[in-house]
Amino acid sequence: MAPKRHESLWFSSGDVVLSTNIYLFKVHKELLALQSSVFKDMFELEQPVEGVQGIVQELYEGLPLVALVGDEGKDVAHLLKAVYYRDYYDRDNDKTPLEIIVALLVLGNKYDFKHIQSDVMKQLLRLYPNTLDGFDDVDQGGYDCNLFGVHRVKSDFKLLEACHTANVAVLLPILYYACSEFTVEWIYEQVDEVGGLHASCLRTLLTGKCKLSLALRTLVAFLPDEFSNISCSSCKAGASVRHLHHQHGSHLWTYKGQDLAQSVLKDGCKQCTANLATRIDEKREEIWEKIPSFFGFAGWDELQ
Ligand SMILES: [Zn+2]
Repeated sequence: MAPKRHESLWFSSGDVVLSTNIYLFKVHKELLALQSSVFKDMFELEQPVEGVQGIVQELYEGLPLVALVGDEGKDVAHLLKAVYYRDYYDRDNDKTPLEIIVALLVLGNKYDFKHIQSDVMKQLLRLYPNTLDGFDDVDQGGYDCNLFGVHRVKSDFKLLEACHTANVAVLLPILYYACSEFTVEWIYEQVDEVGGLHASCLRTLLTGKCKLSLALRTLVAFLPDEFSNISCSSCKAGASVRHLHHQHGSHLWTYKGQDLAQSVLKDGCKQCTANLATRIDEKREEIWEKIPSFFGFAGWDELQ
């Protein structure tokens, strides 16, 4: 079926026609060039850019026709609405449908729409903070909450795939971490739910999850040694560390020093319990700092 004119993105004064699989858009070169370096270069050079073809040769009712190869018409419609309609996308609104966020993230990046990219990044970095305390709060907020009109977990996996596609390195480690929660079986269920992940993305997720899991197991396994190093003489004689096998959370928030020390330490004095909690929190920080490396990235600071 031939693509049809998009109702709200067909401007009579437009001077270029963009074509996709289902829609045609009659829009303005100058406006696109102001916001997007890719369109700016294309219109200035009058040459095809990678992924975009046909500006010189093809005409549509006398106007240059640009075929956006490989882009879904509905995604391009989201992008152009965000360009033209001031209230279409608001970075403070976390109920914006996920489909819009993903389209703006991927196409905003592909065509280098600076303002749109910057707004989407600000929103996503607020929702996926790159700090241990920040992400503990996200985890403790519970996985029952909704984000972008769907269950938060669905957003995690969809955004991981989108950032992997768009190569948005700054968000990738925290999204990999977000998706490492729970069991491998559960991860596969979520991947199926969102329609699959790129093979290399899934491999990075699962290998990184194994490394994270090993670091958490190691933290727990060392608790008896840690305690014997720091405990007072009366605790050395009378206190014990137990219930280690009960500690099986896959994210750091279930290993907070105070909670974990209280749950594993039997008959410890107040000071030794506090000291153990401090040691656990130091270990937690060390693991947090290594999380980007588990997923193939240098470190949190290098991502800014
Ligand atoms: Zn003690």
